[in-house]
Amino acid sequence: MSISNGNVQTLEAPLIPKRREKLIDVPVLGEKRILLAAPRGYCAGVDRAVIAVEKALERFGAPVYVRKQIVHNIHVVKELESRGVIFVDEVSEVPESSTIVFSAHGVSPMVVAEAADRGLNAIDATCPLVTKVHREAVRFSGQDYHILLIGHAGHEEVEGTMGHAPDHTTLVNNPDEADIITVPDTENLIWLSQTTLSVDETMETVRRLRLRFPHLSDPPSDDICYATQNRQVAIKKIAPECDLVIVVGSPNSSNSVRLVEVALEYGAKASYRVDYASEIKQEWLEGVSTIGLTSGASVPEVLVDHTLADLADAGYTQVKEIKTAEEDLQFSLPKELRKDSSGNVDQSLLGGRKGS
Ligand code: SF4
Repeated sequence: MSISNGNVQTLEAPLIPKRREKLIDVPVLGEKRILLAAPRGYCAGVDRAVIAVEKALERFGAPVYVRKQIVHNIHVVKELESRGVIFVDEVSEVPESSTIVFSAHGVSPMVVAEAADRGLNAIDATCPLVTKVHREAVRFSGQDYHILLIGHAGHEEVEGTMGHAPDHTTLVNNPDEADIITVPDTENLIWLSQTTLSVDETMETVRRLRLRFPHLSDPPSDDICYATQNRQVAIKKIAPECDLVIVVGSPNSSNSVRLVEVALEYGAKASYRVDYASEIKQEWLEGVSTIGLTSGASVPEVLVDHTLADLADAGYTQVKEIKTAEEDLQFSLPKELRKDSSGNVDQSLLGGRKGS
């Protein structure tokens, strides 16, 4: 399957590795079936970021530079590389006056300033829901709060958010750290979080923080985004029925990794994450009647289609979608891409890609 948006065609199948030998249909007790979680796959922020890079390529031509992976999915990255995108770790690697896109995970103000200093044409594809957390960090640090940021050290989103209030933020990686972190002020404390965490684990971290810091304030609204929450709710619903849950997603995709953890926590007998269907091992299917299938928020649906096709070879042809929420959120494209070369707003660039 390819996804179209106007005249943009993306995600051609040849980049997807094929398995050497087909999976074998081995009989099991009970009926073989797949429970397909919905929502799954692309969220509005990922869709917007990928379209932003595609539009940048169209408008400015290759090469377009992207700082870090535009979204945490190896297939998306490889596909964009094949079309002239160069991924870099730092702005300093980009030739002056080039076009650079900041990834969906967001950047710190220092990165924005460095790009301006180098005279780069910068397009900010930070997900608006990450930008919301950035704004909270700026606001609360300005009000002299100390921020306890629940998130994973080294994740790009965490680095970007901490960069908005570097002197007012302490990172809390997990519930155990809540028991040992030290803070400069126990009265004016507020917690914020990375957008792609496990909801349950985050609430446990908050509970343990509050035992030590009773004055801890809550953020005005959830930081764990709608897409992360919806995908976790869907997998929680099907996991108890599943002998195996397969999550399509890359190892550096926080929300994909969380889906494996949530599936196991909610009763799946086994759960594995794969980038591609070709990574599914025959032995995972031994004695498996019901397979749950989902994908992380940065995963194009074509990878799920390939997984369904491979599992059909193994006899899992009965597929039932279990939908726990409707999603129709779309974000406007980055402002740098919303106007055409004459400065007119191009209405076709408002909003994401339907049906991805
Ligand atoms: S997972 Fe959530 S925060 Fe991240 S890009 Fe998608 S919508 Fe935005």
